[in-house]
Amino acid sequence: MEKVWFHVDVNSAFLSWSALKLLREGQALDLRTVPSAVGGDEEKRHGVVLAKSGPAKAFGIHTGESLFSARLKCPQLIVTPPDFDWYVQNSKALIAILGDYTPDVEQYSIDEAFLDMTGTGALFGPPLEAARTIRERVRRELGFTVNIGVAPNRLLAKMASDFEKPDKVHTLYPAEVPAKMWPLPVGALFGVGPSAVKKLNRCGILTIGDLAQSERRAIVDLFGVRGDTLWNYANGREADPVTKQHTRDNTYGNSVTLPRDLTRPEQADATMLALCDSVGRRLRADGRTARVVTVQLVDNAFRRSSHQRTLPDPTNSTDRLYQVARELLEQMWPQRPVRLVGVSAEKTGTDQFEQLDLFTDSTRRQKQEKLDRTADALRRKYGGAAVTRATLLTPDSRKPSALSAAKQRDKEKG
Ligand SMILES: [Mg+2]
Repeated sequence: MEKVWFHVDVNSAFLSWSALKLLREGQALDLRTVPSAVGGDEEKRHGVVLAKSGPAKAFGIHTGESLFSARLKCPQLIVTPPDFDWYVQNSKALIAILGDYTPDVEQYSIDEAFLDMTGTGALFGPPLEAARTIRERVRRELGFTVNIGVAPNRLLAKMASDFEKPDKVHTLYPAEVPAKMWPLPVGALFGVGPSAVKKLNRCGILTIGDLAQSERRAIVDLFGVRGDTLWNYANGREADPVTKQHTRDNTYGNSVTLPRDLTRPEQADATMLALCDSVGRRLRADGRTARVVTVQLVDNAFRRSSHQRTLPDPTNSTDRLYQVARELLEQMWPQRPVRLVGVSAEKTGTDQFEQLDLFTDSTRRQKQEKLDRTADALRRKYGGAAVTRATLLTPDSRKPSALSAAKQRDKEKG
């Protein structure tokens, strides 16, 4: 049977989720409709844009640039601080809904998931209809929009979800690849980082189509075995992952001042997950992996400490970064309450294969394990009933949302 994959991607996730929170708190302005950004630590000047609205993007504001520079481009920019606990709750609610359509949900990052929808036609209709159903249900029940890419493999599904946004479903079947994917700049191809773009551009390969129509041999000569994978990707085929190699050194870090001082490491879980996700996402976007993970803490007497670990296998996986960071955090937790946490990935190299590994069976297993752990953690946090879909999604629980109910229970438990 022909495989059917969906890639579900929340549109401007952090910004949308922050906008929703403010609306629910009674603010009249929807941040999604004006130039706005989520960013941390503005006073210190090294705060960065973690997410931006569509109107902010129109001013040329990029994720990762400093708030200072963003304000030069758009003086009326509205900046709101991140709320990682809220983001994680929205992420869980999304994954719970997706789980109603297939048992095979692979969470890829805090706001993205792959769904294996093969053989679900009898239940949910043809793929486009099922995708529309999911997209509309997420918007109706959770209040934010997603893009869904529909394709016979994960690579094409992910490429498709990145087409026109927001709130859109796009297909990318093999026959559509020349028209829909080949005209894009080669850097838009999954797995092609900035260093690969430079190399390809120097050879006159500017679009994904140029790459697809190059001699496979020439691309292999240029990139080694990895070239084969990229050439296959350009042709719309998922290829086997290959071995790793690492070169330049570079650091990817994020830190955040907590809204309140924390006394136990588990209180920082959601924040750590979001920080690791942001670091992992940037590494993946640049096609890099890291060998060293460092966690920094500042306590309420402003004493700074940091611990680091060298990994046997370099990674850019959110899950792996989080696992290591969480262990470090546990080991180094100080006597005094903590007011700032940070995570950085160091000794990084231009290796795209950890990212490509997302398509292998072993990663699939890991993703499943991650989902399992997520469910376990949720059960511990909110009690067993909170993770059953019936509780999250009964009609009665829609407004006020199951999210706020879960949040309320969380509050009551302290
Ligand atoms: Mg997204």
